[in-house]
Parts: sequence; structure tokens; C-alpha cells
Amino acid sequence: MVATKSNGKLVIISGPSGAGKSTVVDLLLKNCKLPLKLSVSATTRPPRESEVDGEAYHFIDEPSFTQLREQDAFLEYKDVFASGYWYGTLRETVTTGLNHGLWVILEIDIQGAFSVLNSIPDATTIFIHAGSMEELERRLTHRGTDSPESINRRLQVARDEMSISEKYMHQITNSDPMQAMSDICSILEKVGD
Ligand code: 5GP
Repeated sequence: MVATKSNGKLVIISGPSGAGKSTVVDLLLKNCKLPLKLSVSATTRPPRESEVDGEAYHFIDEPSFTQLREQDAFLEYKDVFASGYWYGTLRETVTTGLNHGLWVILEIDIQGAFSVLNSIPDATTIFIHAGSMEELERRLTHRGTDSPESINRRLQVARDEMSISEKYMHQITNSDPMQAMSDICSILEKVGD
């Protein structure tokens, strides 16, 4: 269980790779008038060209990841897409944010989400859809950051994730990022009432 002293809230956002989660979360942080804070995960995946260390992720090597794991520094961790790269939510980021009364956003995969819900069952869960598998494939290919193998793995995981997405409290389709942002902000404002 994660002990919190204040009235912070946890928001878990999941969705297939390519659904536009990061864009929507960025827009939320800039436009939604709630005390939102993104929990920056640690990963062993190498940074993409546009990614800045400490913003998208804390990019660390595998020995450092293992050390953090052994220190119980992760609320949850996973080798997402079975790609050999690890991703983990830093416990301290979440606890500190919640203790300061912030709304901490986790942008993590489904299994990570279910694992976090064991510790913090009252988290708000939101699943972002791309619209269709064809649209997802188009976006992943257009993004140009993943190899064909990585795209195939991401599409396979997307199929599995979408089949259990109804377990999330809220479903959003991201056809227009500003609209998706506004829909999520409205959901969160209602949670806060
Ligand atoms: P990428 O950034 O490589 O495109 O995709 C990362 C995937 O892993 C996304 O679906 C994202 O939601 C998920 N992810 C990112 N950080 C974490 C984390 O800390 N834990 C878990 N379980 N999943 C994560």
C-alpha cells in the first residue's frame, strides 16, 4: 500500500503505442487547470532523437535499473513489448507528488496499471484508443522511430491491450489531440468535484 498524507490523486493513462498518449498528456499538462504532475518513468530503452533525458524518461542502463529494482525503488516495472527494454514507475515520484496534493499522471502499460491498482485502488484509469488498428499502424509507420519488428510487436500488444481496455473506467478515442485532452480534463474535473 502507498501511504499518502494529502489529497493528491493518481491518474493512470494507458493505450496502444501510437495512440498519441504522450501528445495528449503534454497538452493536458499545459492546458488543464488542475495541479497535474507527470510521473517520469525510468527506462533502459535508448532515447529517440527528440527525447530529452528527465523529460520523456530517465534513460538509464540495465545495471542501474537492476540496482533500483533491488532497492525497491519501483512501484511497478515491466519489460514492455518483451523487447528486452525495461520501464519502471519510480515510487518516490508518485508518493512525493501525492503527498503534495498533486494529481500524478502515470502513462504506463496495462499490466503496470493493474499492478499499481493493487497498491492504489482508487486511481482514475483512462484508456486512449487510436480509432482502429489500421490507423495505429499508419501512425507507428509514419512516426518513423521504430523498426518493422518493433512495429509488429507493438501492434500485437495493442490487439491484446484493446481486448481488455474495457476494464478501464474511461475510454477516449484520440482522433484530435486537443479534443482528447479536453475530454480527459473534463473527466478529471468531475473526479475532483
Ligand atoms: P515507448 O515510449 O517505447 O514508445 O513505449 C513505452 C510503452 O511503455 C508505452 O505503452 C507506455 O505506456 C509504457 N510505459 C512507459 N513507462 C512505463 C512504466 O514505467 N511502466 C510500465 N509498465 N509501462 C510503461
